[in-house]
Parts: sequence; C-alpha cells; structure tokens
Amino acid sequence: MYDVLIVGGGPVGACAGALLARGEGGRGLAVALLEPRAPTPLPAGAALEARVVALSRASERTLVSAGAWPSILGPRVCAYERMRIWHESVSPASDAALVFDAADVGEPNLGYIVENRQLQTALLAAFTQAGGHIESAQLSGLRIAEDAVHVQTSRGAFSARLIIGADGAQSAVREAAGLTAQIGSYRQTAIVATVATARAHELTAWQRFLKTGTLAFLPLADGASSIVWSADDELAPGLMAASEADFAAELDRASDLALGATRLVSARQSFPLQRLHAPRYVAKRVALVGDAAHVVHPLAGQGVNLGLLDAAALADLLLAASGEGEDPGALAVLRRYERWRKSEVALMSAAIDGFDRLLAHGTGPLARLAQQGLSWVNGAPELRRAFIRRALGMSGELPRAAR
Ligand SMILES: Cc1cc2nc3c(=O)[nH]c(=O)nc-3n(C[C@H](O)[C@H](O)[C@H](O)COP(=O)(O)OP(=O)(O)OC[C@H]3O[C@@H](n4cnc5c(N)ncnc54)[C@H](O)[C@@H]3O)c2cc1C
Repeated sequence: MYDVLIVGGGPVGACAGALLARGEGGRGLAVALLEPRAPTPLPAGAALEARVVALSRASERTLVSAGAWPSILGPRVCAYERMRIWHESVSPASDAALVFDAADVGEPNLGYIVENRQLQTALLAAFTQAGGHIESAQLSGLRIAEDAVHVQTSRGAFSARLIIGADGAQSAVREAAGLTAQIGSYRQTAIVATVATARAHELTAWQRFLKTGTLAFLPLADGASSIVWSADDELAPGLMAASEADFAAELDRASDLALGATRLVSARQSFPLQRLHAPRYVAKRVALVGDAAHVVHPLAGQGVNLGLLDAAALADLLLAASGEGEDPGALAVLRRYERWRKSEVALMSAAIDGFDRLLAHGTGPLARLAQQGLSWVNGAPELRRAFIRRALGMSGELPRAAR
C-alpha cells in the first residue's frame, strides 16, 4: 500500500509527487503516480515549442524545492524582466501603458518563460529521482474505504491512504469521488503560436486588452515570441482558418505593431477557454490540485502557478501530519489544505475575471475607469510595486517550498 497515489503527471501532479517523495520538513512518503501520456524529454537542439508558461518567483522556488529547477534552467528558458500592459484605446509606447519592471522591486527578473514539455519532463524526472514510482496507466475507478482508497487502472489495482486528483479539468478522480465542479465558458478560444517579430522583444511580456479579447506576446530565449491570443469565439475560427499571411496581418492589427510586423514560425494551436471551480477540493482520502480543482483564464498566466502552490501547500500539510504520525488521508488534515488554497485561488480568479470583464470586454463607465486605472497604477510607485509582488507570487500565505 502506498501512502499517496497521484492521478495525473502534468506539472502539478508531478510537482506534488516530487515534494512528497523528497519529504523536506518531514519523512518522505511512499508515492506512486499514474500518467498514461508522459511526454518524452525534448532532444537537445530541438526548436522551441509553442506551448510555454510564464512561471512566477514562487513557482521557481517550489521547483527548486522539488529538485526540478537545475534541469529546467538553461538556454531554452527566457528570464523576462518587464511587462507592458495597455488597452487598445492607447498606444503601446504611451505613458498610459502600465509597465512592471523587475528593477522597481530590486529583483533580477519577473519570472521565466518555460516550455510546458520541459517543465513536465523535469518534474517527472525529479519525482523518480526522489524514489517515486510512475505507472503508465489510466484511472478507471476508485472505492473509498475506511482506512484506504482502492483504485482500478488500465494496469491493475493499487491501494493508498490518500489519492490526489491532479488529472486536469476533466478530472476522473473528482467525478469518481462525487466532488462537483461549476464550469462556465469564457466564450473565447486561445490561439497559441510562435512568431518572429521585426522588433526585439526586450525581455518583455507584452499584453494588449482589446474589446474582442486579450493578446499576449511572451518572450522566448531565441528572440521569437509565443503568442496567446484569447479571441472571442466569433473571431477565433476565422483566425485559425486564415492563411499564414492573413493571420499575420490580423495579428499586426491586433498588436498595434507593438513589436513591429510579425511572421508565423509555428503551427497555430487552439484551446477553448473555460472557467472551473470545484466548491470542495477534498473528501475523505481524496484531494484535488491544479486544474482538477480550478481553471482560470490564461490572461494573467496563473494556472500552473496556482497549481504548483496547491502542490506545495498540500505537501507541507501531509509531511507535517506524517511527521506527527497522523493519517495523510484524514479529513481533518485535508480540510486545512482546502481552507488555505481555496481562499487564495478565489482571490486570484476574481481578479482575473475582473480584468477580462472590464479591461478586455468592458464598455460602460466602470470599464472606462478600469482602463484609465492602468495609467493611474503606472503613476503610483507603491501600488505598482504591490502589483509586481503579487505577479511574482510573493504575497499571500506561502507554503514552505515556495518561500
Ligand atoms: C493557452 C493557455 C496558456 C496558458 N498559459 C499559462 C501561463 O503562462 N502560466 C500558467 O501558470 N498557466 C498557464 N496556463 C494554464 C496551464 O496550462 C494549466 O493550468 C496547467 O496545465 C494545469 O496543470 P495540471 O497538472 O493541473 O493539469 P494538466 O496539465 O491538464 O495535466 C493533467 C494530467 O493528467 C493526466 N490524466 C488525465 N486523466 C487521467 C486519468 N484518468 N488517469 C491518469 N492520468 C490522467 C493527463 O494525461 C495529464 O498529463 C495556460 C493555459 C492555456 C490553455
């Protein structure tokens, strides 16, 4: 019997596994992880992938604690130093654009742009190095008993004292455990691609709020940028079907040529955007982490960052409980995790939805106020520093691994 069985080896499940198996701050637990689609590591010299995430300082520290950071940090990663955020009613170069600069808070950078695949493979490797066991299997059913949870998979049965659902937005664990989820659509589709730009990205993440969505350029280590264009559903199919030249022309209009003319250097991928909130993150012997518990709009680049903090918070509590000889599947232990993370996630997702409603789509007086607010924040150094600390993930109650 394992102490913990994790279902899903995405970045969040793999991170929870590595932290629990390493066991800093307590004794390491016996952990197994089910992942039927583990990616292979990127071959050295391969072109940069279009799917990337912006990792905060809190995530960087969590990845250090998980033992994954040394194999992530390298020539494929871009440390970005600034963010420039503006509304379509003003020019990207104007004083009305909000600029966050790492130097304003005495930090070397605001975070890192990392390929999804590199993040996931580094965390899975850190998990096995820490003694964790990976089973290439899919969960097909579970039964929660008094002292254990019994799991059926495509490769046999397993038992553990706790099951962690890290199996993404369509979580089978959530469903099998009878935990519900409130799901809504943003009525937008995110289009992701790599583009070359006429002007250098200046190690800056660029984001424009439009009436029809948001457009972000994330700087890559090779000088190109990864775009995340969250476009209204009426617009997205046309953008996906357009020729490369027509798409670039639309992108140049939508970016107001902030980085000069663009050229596609990868295929386009599209992701329908939904919000998801599980009213309960835990049940007896079950805990949900990452997208299985909450999905937020990608405009603030916070999905993985929130999930890694879930993993670190849960690891803190489980390792402390195990050090005290407590059962890691006991509801009292899991409720502490739920109280901690639900309030932090609620704060962040309300802020993200507010940005989407007011800055991207809003037209009324409140929206105009919010749009002007970008330049007010720019002119208020203390407030701006508070926003930067929030973006770095250095505010709120941080788990040990993220400090
Ligand atoms: C366009 C876009 C851009 C984004 N940009 C950012 C960003 O810049 N920064 C950021 O922090 N976040 C970003 N996000 C969000 C981020 O991608 C997600 O929050 C993150 O992938 C969630 O990780 P996870 O490990 O919880 O789930 P997932 O990545 O979904 O992983 C779930 C894993 O579970 C496995 N699984 C599923 N079902 C089963 C089963 N039955 N049995 C066993 N295994 C199973 C799957 O194979 C998968 O590997 C973005 C999202 C989108 C759509």
